[in-house]
Amino acid sequence: MLSTRTLARASARAYTTWMPDPLEHATGKEKRELLAHMAGNCDPFHIMSIKRGPGKKDCPNIIPSAFNKRLVGCVCHPHASHVEYMWLHEGQPKRCGCGHWFQLCRVPAL
Ligand SMILES: [Zn+2]
Repeated sequence: MLSTRTLARASARAYTTWMPDPLEHATGKEKRELLAHMAGNCDPFHIMSIKRGPGKKDCPNIIPSAFNKRLVGCVCHPHASHVEYMWLHEGQPKRCGCGHWFQLCRVPAL
């Protein structure tokens, strides 16, 4: 004889096996993003902030982009209350007003 507790467990198990896997349900960019996350890439679109390096002309900060240009924001000083934005184009290193150099690095699109 089945108790009510047994019935509750059986229905919960059936529900979890019935739900489709999100990976099988996703398509296109969403699926590629999920696969990248599963592979350990937590930033597949390169949108997380980047710590600046020395940023000299011969050793610029490398900015990844899947396109030939990208909008870059530089927090010029640690206590700055605003962000300096500038367009960075492929093949044209650019110097921010604070003196740091940036260069676009082409990466494959997701
Ligand atoms: Zn700056």
